[in-house]
Amino acid sequence: MRAAVFEDVGVLSIKKVERPQIERPDHVLIEVELCSICGTDVHIMNDPPGYIATKGTILGHELVGKIIEVGEEVTTVKLGDRVVVNPNDYCGACSYCKNNLPNFCENIEAMGIDVDGGFAEIVRTSEKVVFKISEDVPAGVAAFAEPLACLLNGTEKIRIQPSDSVVVIGAGTIGLMFVQMAKAAGASPIIVSEPSELRRQYALEVGADFAVDPRETDLSSFVTEHTEIGADYSIEVVGSEMMQAINCTRKGGTVLLFGVNGNAVPSVVQSKITQSEIRVQGTWLANASFPKAVKVLESGVLDLEKLITHTLPLEDTLDGIDLLRKGEGVEILIDPRK
Ligand SMILES: [Zn+2]
Ligand SMILES: [Zn+2]
Repeated sequence: MRAAVFEDVGVLSIKKVERPQIERPDHVLIEVELCSICGTDVHIMNDPPGYIATKGTILGHELVGKIIEVGEEVTTVKLGDRVVVNPNDYCGACSYCKNNLPNFCENIEAMGIDVDGGFAEIVRTSEKVVFKISEDVPAGVAAFAEPLACLLNGTEKIRIQPSDSVVVIGAGTIGLMFVQMAKAAGASPIIVSEPSELRRQYALEVGADFAVDPRETDLSSFVTEHTEIGADYSIEVVGSEMMQAINCTRKGGTVLLFGVNGNAVPSVVQSKITQSEIRVQGTWLANASFPKAVKVLESGVLDLEKLITHTLPLEDTLDGIDLLRKGEGVEILIDPRK
């Protein structure tokens, strides 16, 4: 089968590889319908990488597809079922797993990072990380399940209420979904910071009240101007703008850190957090939030089709990653059947 393989720093090649085989009784094989490019893929392909992947691995971890083969002990899905996948397969036996925190599993196998992923015609995973999703959900929308599950793990930690003011720093797919979720929760105003003009337009279209270019506008002054005391919640989706998020937040407010950039070493003014009693909350991967993500996608409460800017054949995976890096696309999907 054909696949996009991460060969070395900055090198991705589209080539023929062996079709995966069922090797364990809980394995399933999925024929990939669509797999979206994530910011993590951009970080992996950067030189130096901002996120470390294993060389020789097929990338891609946000996918929807059909079950085409199952191991002998699989009971909850069958051939032909359409599924989305939690790419972070957990062991179920370590201390974190036993405490219902599989996102911190000490033996996590990350699809598309450590083990072969979805920029391929077929991908293998285990039964416990696949979730059925209705055929009525367009494939491009179903491909949002993984980022949405991670986002819901974050929104559970902050509980935005009607009239809360929210700042979202970074308006890629995740940032734009946070805007839609905040809007659905009744937040006002919602202020987005994003250097890409295309993404600022999207932010306004999906519910932001303001979208500013942080290179031209001093974000924290802008936020103060529109909220009087600063935002109730600031959500950082970039991985390097923690201080910016803290500076936008009112005393007693909350910063949610979603972004990850391994190359960033932001300097922190600790007194600002102490004296303003700001709560800084990290959020990592998805934790039992896949069933909720599937429900949200099936409900249609978010207008995600609007965020799809490109659907590309497998051959163009690297071009798609470049488009995302340059901020010239939002949700970029790879169709490995093309
Ligand atoms: Zn991702
Ligand atoms: Zn574990």
